[in-house]
Amino acid sequence: MELTKEIQKFLLNDALERFLRYVKIWTTSDESAESVPSTKVQLDLGKVLVEELKELNLDNIVLDEYGFVYAYLPPSKGFENVQSFGLLAHIDTSPAVSGKDVKPVIHRNYDGKNIKFAQDKDLILTFEDSPNLEEYIGLDIITSEGDTLLGADDKAGIAEIMAACNAWRKFDKLKHGPIYICFTPDEEIGLGIDKVDKNKIPEICYTVDGGEMGEMEFECFDAWLAQFKFKGLSVHPGHAKNKMINAIQIASRYFSELPESEAPESTEEREGYFHLAKMQGGAEEATARMIIRDFILKNNQRRMDYIKSLKQTYEIRYPGLKIEIDFKYQYQNMVKYIEKKPIVVDLVKQAMEKVGLEVKTHPIRGGTDGARLSVAGIPTPNIFTGGQLFHSRKEYIPTLALQKSAEVLLYLAHLWTQQK
Ligand SMILES: [Zn+2]
Repeated sequence: MELTKEIQKFLLNDALERFLRYVKIWTTSDESAESVPSTKVQLDLGKVLVEELKELNLDNIVLDEYGFVYAYLPPSKGFENVQSFGLLAHIDTSPAVSGKDVKPVIHRNYDGKNIKFAQDKDLILTFEDSPNLEEYIGLDIITSEGDTLLGADDKAGIAEIMAACNAWRKFDKLKHGPIYICFTPDEEIGLGIDKVDKNKIPEICYTVDGGEMGEMEFECFDAWLAQFKFKGLSVHPGHAKNKMINAIQIASRYFSELPESEAPESTEEREGYFHLAKMQGGAEEATARMIIRDFILKNNQRRMDYIKSLKQTYEIRYPGLKIEIDFKYQYQNMVKYIEKKPIVVDLVKQAMEKVGLEVKTHPIRGGTDGARLSVAGIPTPNIFTGGQLFHSRKEYIPTLALQKSAEVLLYLAHLWTQQK
């Protein structure tokens, strides 16, 4: 199977039109909320997607109480026995930057100069911000006006999946097995995926939520949270000699014992870290919150052992001091679950090669909904959207990426039809 110019053009136009529509719909999630969806506005895009899926004539279309949108694309005739897979993308945008009243701007035929923003004269997008930008000279680039994020994370993913669905419906020669669509709420705050209805997604899935063209991810952090309580003793400072145990003072000393070379600001690629995220309190009691990250569980265990041994040392050094540490496993590296079914990743690589992209596999220095699903037995690698500088007012995407990502999905479905 080869994708003709006609199909490529169709994908570009369709995905672009949808993308420009979706980014204008406000869907910012809210970390402080405890219910799903964390914000009602996410349902606004959910409703639009339901109507569009109906237009595409998909089956079993549902918008549920949590804000999940599900749909089913039945297989081409004669391909009923092909392995089914799911395509996922998230509806919400990051609460780190405003996503309200996004006004997308298309910079036609990008000339390689710094990109300026209408709503913020001081903001510029340069090659330094994003080295990939240089590769996109001559392409059309979409940004916001600089007062909001763009929302390519992950509305590009939604638009690319929808465009692929439209192509499967329209072009009979694009054969495919059963395909399940799922648009999820609250990915950015890590809450949504707990509420996914596993009966509505198959045993293999892909998230379309990655960065630059050609990127694929199937490895993420092994992630722990450590919560500390330092219990001291408050005494009037004028009469404190040999009596006061200053919890917050001791806590700051304690955390300064952690190696500087294992802080987020000194690590990259495959290096792990301790990150002291918050510390508060006084002489009587201090609390702190730390996240611990690595790609290898054993390295994190070593970090936790170090923290525990420091606790013992400090309790000896300051008689009367009590330190309580509570470790919580936040998420696991998905790689070992995905490696059980290498075909899931191999076919994405093959699909990207068919599209003419160089495949780039990066470990994710974070977690994804796909990681949670993978650990639950549904291997779910992440495919690129083409967006860059996510969670930033400089976020951008070349329009070509919308087409290329959709092409990858079409080839991927085709490749699955070739498997025994
Ligand atoms: Zn995302």
